[in-house]
Amino acid sequence: METEEKSLKKAVLWKPDKDKKVRCKLCSHRCVIDERKVGRCNVRKNIDGVLYSLTYDKVCSANPDPIEKKPLFHFQPGTRSFSIATMGCNFQCDFCQNWQISQAAIENGQIDGEPITPEQIVEAAVRNGCKSIAYTYTEPTVFMELCNDCGRLAKEKGLKNIFVSNGYQTIEAIDFAKDWLDGINVDLKAFSEDYYKRLCKARLQPVLDTISYIANQTNIWLEITTLLVPGENDSDDELKKIAEFIVTKANPDVPWHISRFYPQYKYLDSVPTPLESLERAYDIGRAAGLHYVYLGNVPGAKSENTFCYKCGRTLIERMGYKILANHIKKSCCPDCNTKIAGFEL
Ligand code: SF4
Repeated sequence: METEEKSLKKAVLWKPDKDKKVRCKLCSHRCVIDERKVGRCNVRKNIDGVLYSLTYDKVCSANPDPIEKKPLFHFQPGTRSFSIATMGCNFQCDFCQNWQISQAAIENGQIDGEPITPEQIVEAAVRNGCKSIAYTYTEPTVFMELCNDCGRLAKEKGLKNIFVSNGYQTIEAIDFAKDWLDGINVDLKAFSEDYYKRLCKARLQPVLDTISYIANQTNIWLEITTLLVPGENDSDDELKKIAEFIVTKANPDVPWHISRFYPQYKYLDSVPTPLESLERAYDIGRAAGLHYVYLGNVPGAKSENTFCYKCGRTLIERMGYKILANHIKKSCCPDCNTKIAGFEL
């Protein structure tokens, strides 16, 4: 083992294989990794038949953010979430909005960051008046070791923990995290295997399995986001399939965030999502039976607000990430007393 490798953090969720190979069980790529090689995410390395995280002590982003930015709209609304990331991802999305930190490890092995300990992260969260820690900006699954140590400590201090994720973690990984993970926003990017394969270098089915498992087998609060890319995932048929999947395989109470796309990274030959497409998706979501549908990246749109799905009363008024008013009383609509799903509303 080389000197700098001696300080690496041993990975979680893997098992030894023949000829000093290892099998990583964190995400649905389930990489089998040869000795001295890394997995597809490029941030987990097999050294002498043992899997290590290359990013544990390399935090590349740390900011107190409004929780609405994640987005989580039904989880401690109006609070701040201390948001951290390390470099790397298990997806390679052509339109990634954080490609500078998510894709550099895959493109050229670049892993930059500061050695910030879980204790320091939790202290910074408390100092900044945050109610939670969000593992976000890049895919938290590939830095699970830091999430786990930080998450357990945060829980002891009364803070909640949140993932913003592509939903590609295995069921084993969700089970591993579910004691300390309180909320998650999962990207359901499309409803076709072709889209996931062509644009993200991944598969759809594991994401569907993850969503279904979280919604039905855990107490983790779930919200879902779909980035609407013109001409790729915005047909009526596909949007209907997404909405119906959430209603039937998760829950009509799961908020669906439909987010406006702007050309990014390798996906530049496109226009931003037209407002009409976003509004059409909103209507499809509501018609399918979803109780809470939101449009994202459209500041000032009425559809940023939370409405009672029974009587239509405006419950939470938003402007971008800002809460202008919250009329919910004891988790219920003040007019018709309908229960509003969420966490510390
Ligand atoms: S986390 Fe990385 S190494 Fe593990 S299975 Fe996923 S891509 Fe492969």
